[in-house]
Amino acid sequence: MTTKSLTVDTDRKTQVIDITDAVAESIPPEVSGTATVFSQHTTATITINEAESRLLGDFESALEDIVPSTGWAHDEIDNNADSHVRSLLLGPSETIPVDNGELQLGTWQSILFVELDGPRSRSIQVSLPG
Ligand code: ZN
Repeated sequence: MTTKSLTVDTDRKTQVIDITDAVAESIPPEVSGTATVFSQHTTATITINEAESRLLGDFESALEDIVPSTGWAHDEIDNNADSHVRSLLLGPSETIPVDNGELQLGTWQSILFVELDGPRSRSIQVSLPG
């Protein structure tokens, strides 16, 4: 297995960013198998969906609406329980088929990085066979 690291700099507390191109560029042309895209964070995640700009805003709003910002026990520690709980709903990684270096995503699928406690500089791992 080969692992490559990508950095994403975010500028809002809740922010969905299309990282498909960066992931695609990290995959050599001879690779076939699966790519695992993994967030090394407890308040930032990876998911797959459509990267239409208004929809990305809708995702951000929905995450903030589904999980209230206040009233959590962990807030006594570092005041970001909402970020952890939103992250828990999405999970840290996605696994995507790769054929001869090409991500096998559907027409409307993009790889989305979901910042939930920004702004921060974040690290994403892309693991590939070989
Ligand atoms: Zn925390």
